[in-house]
Amino acid sequence: MNYHIFTLFPEMIEQGLNTSIIGKAIEKELIRLNLINIRDYANNKHNKVDDYPYGGGAGMLMQPEPIYSAYKAVVHQHKETYVNKKPRMVYLTPQGKTFNQEMAEEFAKESSLMFLCGHYEGVDERVLEEVVTDYVSIGDYVLTGGELAVMVMIDAISRLIPGVLSNKESTEYESFQDGLLEYPHYTRPYEFLGKTVPDVLLSGHHAHINKWRKEQSLLRTCERRPDLIEKASLSEDEKKFLKK
Ligand code: SAM
Repeated sequence: MNYHIFTLFPEMIEQGLNTSIIGKAIEKELIRLNLINIRDYANNKHNKVDDYPYGGGAGMLMQPEPIYSAYKAVVHQHKETYVNKKPRMVYLTPQGKTFNQEMAEEFAKESSLMFLCGHYEGVDERVLEEVVTDYVSIGDYVLTGGELAVMVMIDAISRLIPGVLSNKESTEYESFQDGLLEYPHYTRPYEFLGKTVPDVLLSGHHAHINKWRKEQSLLRTCERRPDLIEKASLSEDEKKFLKK
């Protein structure tokens, strides 16, 4: 997977992503980060990339030309990839569709993705209309810039790419995969602060363990995210269990 990230703060993303599992995936070249500093495409001697909004109001806006020049340069450098295909460019914005696991799975099918990180009050609308294909938010709150948001997206997408997670870290059963939250986990020691591990997990009986986990998953989702239960396609037995 090739990620092309247009940002004013490439060092923030480089430091944030070059550790742990994603850092290893970069080392193994399962994913490639191409960090493009938009400021390198400013065409004035002070490398200025922002200006006051027309119509007045607080804050500054990112100007369209440096972003467009940076975008054109990357498209040109990778022209074999984009010869018959418009680049898929995600603009991170609180005004976008809220990112979720289903979207991560869909993005993970691509072989290359572009991301535009806004800053200040945002970005001139005209360049967004020209280059953006997807408007994505990471939640209903406002960040100072798109850099943390792109790191969230890249982390969630990359761990779905084959080879990025080892078997130990597999995505086999996780929250959201079947529309429910995952069951609780326990490891050694057997007793901690007077609390012991549920007996069924020591029974060695896989059918019983799976049944217990499914029930815990249902109960947890009901308690913490009732909105997910409403959308999940539950079997008759599962519905009966929840009614008890
Ligand atoms: N004025 C904009 C608005 O009200 O929609 C908010 C601008 S915000 C201060 C600056 C930048 O941070 C945005 O351009 C966007 O790239 C990023 N950002 C802020 N909140 C975000 C969120 N919830 N999800 C994704 N990106 C976000």
